[in-house]
Amino acid sequence: MVCRQVAILGSTGSIGMNTLAVIRAHPERFKVVALTAEKQIERLAQQCMEFKPDIAVVGTAEGASRLRTLLQNQHSSIQILYGPQSLVTAVTESGCDTVMAAIVGAAGLVPTLAAARAGKRVLLANKEALVMSGDLFMQAMQDGGGELLPIDSEHNAIFQCLPFGFTKAPAEHLGVEELWLTASGGPFRDRSVADLAMVSPEEACAHPNWVMGKKISVDSATMMNKGLEVIEAFWLFGLPIEKIKVLIHPQSVVHSMVRYRDGSVLAQMGQPDMRTPIAYGLAWPERIDAGVAPLSLTQLAGLSFSDPDLSQFPCLNLAFFAAKAGGTAPTILNAANEIAVAAFLDTGLPYLQISEVVNRTLDSLACVPADSLEVILAVDAQARQMASQMIQTLK
Ligand code: NAD
Ligand code: MG
Repeated sequence: MVCRQVAILGSTGSIGMNTLAVIRAHPERFKVVALTAEKQIERLAQQCMEFKPDIAVVGTAEGASRLRTLLQNQHSSIQILYGPQSLVTAVTESGCDTVMAAIVGAAGLVPTLAAARAGKRVLLANKEALVMSGDLFMQAMQDGGGELLPIDSEHNAIFQCLPFGFTKAPAEHLGVEELWLTASGGPFRDRSVADLAMVSPEEACAHPNWVMGKKISVDSATMMNKGLEVIEAFWLFGLPIEKIKVLIHPQSVVHSMVRYRDGSVLAQMGQPDMRTPIAYGLAWPERIDAGVAPLSLTQLAGLSFSDPDLSQFPCLNLAFFAAKAGGTAPTILNAANEIAVAAFLDTGLPYLQISEVVNRTLDSLACVPADSLEVILAVDAQARQMASQMIQTLK
């Protein structure tokens, strides 16, 4: 049995901790060689003591010195680094063969791209990285010659429903007619738009089925998350946007489906627990125990599916618009959304203005071909600045 050498970008987050939970149960299969976190130094220190990586990376010099102090009594030989460039070092210098890309947002782009270029097995949770740089990222994967395994539950489900070993071929060539991405509809599925004016971050983060980081929880409430996932599916599976459909499925049991030309529809089902797709990606092509309770169909009250009401979820509509516009439109969409969600969570931007900020930012910036990292990062920065200015004027 090969022992995979794993680097986890974003190890203190929801996906990072679920990844460590799967690894903890299979010490003979996985060795952690690098861990990274932005701010949660105490948690990272705990993880370092348990998993003894070679490299640990934090956001700032102060964070690094705090981590050093916390690990001092452990006589640890862990190399402690800080700053964005060190995230790349964690990927390229740790001797890893597998990278869990689980940093939230655009901050994950550069190290995830580095993993792609270096030919690693990339377990992709950080959907924002793919949304902002789809073409470049898929090209980097191809150039690097590594394996790309989607961790987002919907894309992992679709990957499992495609012919075994699906890599880069457009899925259309395999007789695929449509991809159906399921969506729970989030905590506000049954509430009218007028009712949402005063919702708090706590209400928006209270997802009915999944426990996740704050940013993706808000994205699930607005359904921007599903919009980002449509764009993610477009790049991963190479189907035209028109063939990627969203279905509201409140039970979150069917994680997504593939409709084939011959009339077959294949679905992947399971508990709403990210350890399943994480274990799948870590052990692929084998299947290992993920620690997830078995699914009991007879105990379910039923499974239901419906079309989303786009007037209730303007962010989903905006994502479809950006996906069709192409070029840097998804980069702008993603950057404006990150700024608006942070303002909603931290500085009281009203919930309904998240989509307004994204919409206006998309309207104000020209979309250009997203053909280099420099262009993507410049557009990302410009869109962030524009969205921040808009938030000031909206206040
Ligand atoms: P989280 O907020 O719980 O964790 C984010 C991690 O990223 C933390 O370890 C944090 O330290 C790190 N981080 C944040 N900002 C950083 C920065 N500027 N530089 C370096 N590191 C930084 O988020 P999460 O819920 O684990 O989600 C992670 C990614 O996985 C997101 O892209 C999300 O869309 C995707 N995803 C998550 C889930 C889920 O169930 N949580 C499901 C599907 C996809
Ligand atoms: Mg998802």
